[in-house]
Amino acid sequence: MKQVKICVLEGDGIGPEIVKQAVKVLKSACNARGIELELTNALLGGAAIDAVGTPLPDATIEQCKKSDAVLLGAVGGPKWDSLPSEQRPEKGLLGIRSALGLYANLRPAAIFPALRSASPLKDDIIRDGIDILVVRELTGDVYFGKHARKQEDGYEIGYDIMQYSTYEVERIARTAFELARKRNRRVTSVDKANVLETSRVWRETVTRIAKEYPDVALSHMYVDNAAMQLVRNPAQFDVLVTGNIFGDILSDEASMISGSIGMLASASLGSGKLGLYEPIHGSAPDIAGKGLANPLATILSAAMMLRFSLDLPELADAIEKAVENTLDAARTADIQDPSLPVYTTEEMGSYVADQVGQLLNNNKD
Ligand code: NAD
Repeated sequence: MKQVKICVLEGDGIGPEIVKQAVKVLKSACNARGIELELTNALLGGAAIDAVGTPLPDATIEQCKKSDAVLLGAVGGPKWDSLPSEQRPEKGLLGIRSALGLYANLRPAAIFPALRSASPLKDDIIRDGIDILVVRELTGDVYFGKHARKQEDGYEIGYDIMQYSTYEVERIARTAFELARKRNRRVTSVDKANVLETSRVWRETVTRIAKEYPDVALSHMYVDNAAMQLVRNPAQFDVLVTGNIFGDILSDEASMISGSIGMLASASLGSGKLGLYEPIHGSAPDIAGKGLANPLATILSAAMMLRFSLDLPELADAIEKAVENTLDAARTADIQDPSLPVYTTEEMGSYVADQVGQLLNNNKD
């Protein structure tokens, strides 16, 4: 019997409510295929500050490292906003990504047919569907270069060093090409090589690594053009790979194409199988505890976990299909439709879990 070990970090605000639904769905999928699911809870963010005085306890890092994958809700909230930056919940989030060596952030931007009207883009632009995977380098670039200030001619100057080594670019390029092989075999690498030396190293390196993947088509695009193309003709993209700062901006732009923050999943991966899976939204303190949170982004993050860390693509497909079916039957408040019932967080999770069970049981040989 296959066994999978998942470390669960519920976090703060709506974190515990949405993670419970994703766990329910994972249990339903694993039960249907006789897979043993071992779940361990650990503390992160505000919950960890309250319990042990630090946003990222060592015990949490150890527990994550012992697991096959990590499922996270969200961290933060007004209760901890006045703490110094080193002690804030968000520090725990950056800390766990770096402690686990997660350098690739994956954000799918797709449109569920049932939610097409929620997209801010015109119907003729999204008519043929959109399915983009943004792969953002997460641990290098100007965010991790030297930050400093100096005085010159009586003025204060702030500067931040942008840099990429060939090693950092090689590994994220390979991640993108490998992912493209499981999709439509197209990679668009985004940089600013007409201006930046960092980008010229990036472009040369991606071009060199592309030779290892002759079955994947590579194209290059300047970041300003990519920002424009994402809203003009997003269907042209399959995998879009880029550095940390460009990826920060473009992944938010791409994800908004799908129209609702409660639907957007993400994965952070390193060189091994261990990955961290979380919705892209925050802890939504304004709706915490009210049963209003949409759990689908967390449930879709669990599907990514099954695909990328646990080698269970059949279960991932079933969850994605179950979410699609659920959207035809019911909605949470953030994506409500006058013709469909409005479900609570709990009801939505249970509906998806039932759908997953049915889909997998119907497909049994
Ligand atoms: P947020 O994403 O928490 O909320 C923005 C808006 O979207 C709110 O109106 C909220 O109610 C709504 N929303 C978010 N998720 C939803 C869901 N699943 N279903 C329905 N509605 C949803 O962003 P914010 O308000 O700027 O931040 C709140 C807290 O979350 C802050 O402490 C912030 O630092 C933290 N935060 C954490 C993460 C993370 O853990 N990865 C990311 C972003 C923000």
